Amino acid sequence: MLATLGTASEEEDTGQAAYRIMLKREDMAHDPEMLALLDSDTVVRWIGERRHIIAYSVSDKQIYNISTAQPDTHFASATNATYTTRGSKKTMLDVYSSFCPLIHRILDLVPEGEVCEWKLRVHKELPTWVHGSVALVGDACHPTLPHLSQGAAMAIEDGAVLAECVSRIPRNKLQDPEAVTKALKVYELLRKPHTTKLVDMASFSGRTLHLGEGKAKEERDRQFRDNGKSGSVPDKWASPDVQKMIYSNDCMKEAEQRFDELFASLA
Ligand SMILES: Cc1cc2nc3c(=O)[nH]c(=O)nc-3n(C[C@H](O)[C@H](O)[C@H](O)COP(=O)(O)OP(=O)(O)OC[C@H]3O[C@@H](n4cnc5c(N)ncnc54)[C@H](O)[C@@H]3O)c2cc1C
Repeated sequence: MLATLGTASEEEDTGQAAYRIMLKREDMAHDPEMLALLDSDTVVRWIGERRHIIAYSVSDKQIYNISTAQPDTHFASATNATYTTRGSKKTMLDVYSSFCPLIHRILDLVPEGEVCEWKLRVHKELPTWVHGSVALVGDACHPTLPHLSQGAAMAIEDGAVLAECVSRIPRNKLQDPEAVTKALKVYELLRKPHTTKLVDMASFSGRTLHLGEGKAKEERDRQFRDNGKSGSVPDKWASPDVQKMIYSNDCMKEAEQRFDELFASLA
């Protein structure tokens, strides 16, 4: 689609990769500290220079879900189409060797040969998401670093807003290809500013979480110690102001309220 439009998606190498791990309760049950994590009803993020781990229990606390981010140093050669590769357990343990003993024990539970690593890729904001009767949704138009936990959420919202826009094409114009394109353009106008903001915020939050020693880290840690008293914390995923902005955004209501005006404004 972009080639037809004479443009391209400019890929940005984020320099980051992620391990994704799921551990079973039965494999953690022997360790009281791990059991406490599983039962804590808490999402925990351990952060360090250029790397972090986020983890929480799922499936009625039967599974501990772990996602990491670390320097992308194991993808020197091209990966497969899904940007995943089988990682070495030793390398994974080395990458997190400076973390606390609990993390070492948790990562050590990953079976050898089952370390799966994702390359984290994004691209610059696309000039458009729509061509004729084709519209892009989700990661195809706004791949997002996982640090805000919003990529899939935004993809679902895209789908819902797209459906709302298509359902609002005036009945007498349903056979008119131009009206379909206009409705898709309205979808893009409704979604692009919000998704671009969250894509940028996810990158920003990653940079803050991954700071090394220095003044910027000292200031970040001071803000963490303040614990949201100012209405904000450096981890944007956990920040009260950001959570309010994300979860009070009623994309369907906005589509209902603004569709007619935006549709009429398009030539
Ligand atoms: C480590 C990590 C952690 C994340 N954590 C979160 C989180 O906590 N919360 C959150 O909201 N998001 C999270 N995300 C982001 C989320 O996974 C993505 O944003 C989401 O999956 C995007 O959905 P999508 O449907 O747009 O694309 P995808 O999930 O990539 O789906 C596209 C599908 O199309 C298929 N496909 C591709 N080409 C073709 C073809 N030619 N023909 C047919 N099928 C094709 C692919 O196989 C794939 O199944 C995370 C991502 C990563 C990498």
